[in-house]
Amino acid sequence: MQIVSGRKGIKQAADHLRSSNIVAFPTETVYGLGGMAYNDDAVAKIFEAKSRPKFNPLIIHVADFQTANRLVDFCPQSLKLAETFWPGPLTIILNRSNNSEVSLLAGAGLKTTAIRMPDNDIALDLICAAGGPIAAPSANKSGRVSPTRAIHVSEEFGDTIPCILDGGPCLLGLESTVIDFSDAIPTILRPGSITKQDIEEVLGKIALDTGKKPRVAPGMMARHYAPSAKLRLNAKTKKRGETLVGFGPEAPRDSINLSPTGNLREAAAKLFFTLRELDKRNIIEAAIMPIPETGLGVAINDRLRRASKK
Ligand code: AMP
Ligand code: MG
Repeated sequence: MQIVSGRKGIKQAADHLRSSNIVAFPTETVYGLGGMAYNDDAVAKIFEAKSRPKFNPLIIHVADFQTANRLVDFCPQSLKLAETFWPGPLTIILNRSNNSEVSLLAGAGLKTTAIRMPDNDIALDLICAAGGPIAAPSANKSGRVSPTRAIHVSEEFGDTIPCILDGGPCLLGLESTVIDFSDAIPTILRPGSITKQDIEEVLGKIALDTGKKPRVAPGMMARHYAPSAKLRLNAKTKKRGETLVGFGPEAPRDSINLSPTGNLREAAAKLFFTLRELDKRNIIEAAIMPIPETGLGVAINDRLRRASKK
């Protein structure tokens, strides 16, 4: 793994991103572990590196309003917040726009996208040099604290990631405030350095749910996308009327194969697309072949189990 910096470092990190690799980069909040937001394979690498047992949606980092506008449907209030606080530590959750090219895996199959413009010149230059938005969670393994220095990231990941872009210590060291506009009442899902008061100064007194009601984690939400098709898991073969979703070289040729070579990263990258595809093809019953319960397979199986419960 290389630790790079300066103009040359930004170019090297951008080259990695364009080659579908993941890189750690600084923002004003904490270091992020980024991959190109439009690239399912790069996004799957992020989940793999973090060793998360579940797919948790990632924040999409943009460098300009034009891109943000293409990816999500702003309402007047959320637009006002973005204009006031961006670039800055405010993540806004909005409905995905119809023509958004953001990886479905990056949004963990949700209809929403979490988006922000970081207030860090290195991060903004990296997004521009890479040529598109970057999906990134904090650059730490699942369950560990967020890193605020390049050395924290290298201690955590060693050679499992190819490149860390060093921008020195993060200015804020606290994750961004997350506000959800996808429901009737805007909700602060995660408090951060932009406070409820800061937000109300811009929007006036609005009903703002500060999360006092118990909330389910994003990966568990009811509105999380599940196909209409009935899913039967761990199926060796298909029964009459079922469509087979296969995995690995043994899967029959007429199945929808998540990965013909049995590669879990490829299966993760195709998972949400495939679930949607079942609905597009009006499939009523689908049999899913077993996915190994190792590495990314744990998160894939978690998602499939929840998608199979009606
Ligand atoms: P991190 O992974 O540390 O950058 O944190 C990102 C936070 O935003 C996590 O708590 C995610 O669960 C949350 N998040 C990202 N996208 C969404 C979304 N579409 N809906 C709800 N929460 C989200
Ligand atoms: Mg985190």
